[in-house]
Amino acid sequence: MKRWLMCLLLWSVSVIAASAQTQAPQKVNAPDERYKADILIVVAHPDDEAFFTPYAVKALNDLHKSVAVIFATRGGSGGNRYRAERGPAMANEREIEARAACTKLGIRNVWFLDGKDSASQNVLDSLSNWGHGANLEKLVALIRLTRPEVILTHHPGIFIGENHGDHQATGVLVFEAFDLAGSGAVFPAQLSGAMTHYEAYLSNLRPWQAKKVYVASEAEDGKQFDGTGPTYSPREISPLLKKPYWRVAIESAMAHQTQFPEDIERMSKMSDEELEKIMNDPNTGWWGDPSTLIFGKSVVGGGATDPVFSHIDEIPVNPASQVTSSCDPGRKPELPRVELGGPWQFYSNFYPAHGLCHLKIAATPEIGIKAGSTLIVPLVVSHDPAKPAQLSLTARLPEGWKTGPGDLKFTLPAEGSSAVSVHVETPALSAEQLKKALPQEVHVGTEVDGKPAGEIVLKVALRGGGLPESL
Ligand SMILES: [Zn+2]
Repeated sequence: MKRWLMCLLLWSVSVIAASAQTQAPQKVNAPDERYKADILIVVAHPDDEAFFTPYAVKALNDLHKSVAVIFATRGGSGGNRYRAERGPAMANEREIEARAACTKLGIRNVWFLDGKDSASQNVLDSLSNWGHGANLEKLVALIRLTRPEVILTHHPGIFIGENHGDHQATGVLVFEAFDLAGSGAVFPAQLSGAMTHYEAYLSNLRPWQAKKVYVASEAEDGKQFDGTGPTYSPREISPLLKKPYWRVAIESAMAHQTQFPEDIERMSKMSDEELEKIMNDPNTGWWGDPSTLIFGKSVVGGGATDPVFSHIDEIPVNPASQVTSSCDPGRKPELPRVELGGPWQFYSNFYPAHGLCHLKIAATPEIGIKAGSTLIVPLVVSHDPAKPAQLSLTARLPEGWKTGPGDLKFTLPAEGSSAVSVHVETPALSAEQLKKALPQEVHVGTEVDGKPAGEIVLKVALRGGGLPESL
């Protein structure tokens, strides 16, 4: 008994001594300024930083801004056109190449998320393959670490062009993270505050609200983005470097040996004059002139085309208060109705949920696919959940295109929303035909229980190759 009492006393004394110790004043360290970025570039793959490298050269050297880069994947799929390595081994090499490309620009702070290359145009394939939630958490942590004013990323939208699902998924993650990183209620383990000197699981970051997001698009029709954001000229001569911005950007791109070794070898043998001729030609140049940074979202004042850093010192509005569903006034609430499904349906929910009312999207839903392949038109039918419904579709197709076997009549179960798809066989085209092929429209008329439920229109371009519509 006495022994037990002694232990208790000793324990109490040690607790009192420890608490007295923790009450002593301690130095509170500020966030590390070495990692503070004015501009954070978030792109999908090693080499995608090139969407923004001429602007990064301008920002670093002549606007005196700090720049950091995040890659969503390490580039482990696709071919290695340089040497033997593939898959994970090639990803190890591409990480080094990406870091080398950024170093050539003067960017030291480079991170990678855990996305895995997904060879599809469907953003949902990429988000699923990556592990959407874990990568969003990681991106939010990196935004809180780098504390950017402006984020540059890919357009989260579907266009005729490369239309890579990984690019779109990166844009999706950025807009989500932009809205979340400033909230103290989101991923709280990142924001715990210092509790001990040797914190193993808690990050002691701070909430951070970036001010603006601009995006780049790989749509073939780049003209549609004229006037949608501030512009700059990649041909402009840097007052500090005494050479055009594109010149430094090209030198940086030469680090990507496993991606385009033939171009690197060809260009490395060119004189400055020869290189300049190629880069200044709209048909062969890598960057448009002027180049537009497409406005995505802002929590400070000013218009879409104002300079990137205008209003940047304003105290931001909480983006959560901007969430609105009013930016899609054309959406019909009545039943029955038929809408495009799959990734189009996702985006119709995503834009209003993140207040992206002004982001330029395709005027008519569109996609490019390989000539001779099957076009999938996913549909979502909203109808009375109390009883089964009869869906009847009528496809109006370009000459030589045809739907698969069957008469496009469906009995839908008693549920609020049913998913169906129309498969359209497209014609194989010769190289000569492909050169002249213009986008065509696929029309699908819809009737539910004999009542018209709208017409779906999809603009489709046939190409010689490219990524599949979906995996
Ligand atoms: Zn890419």
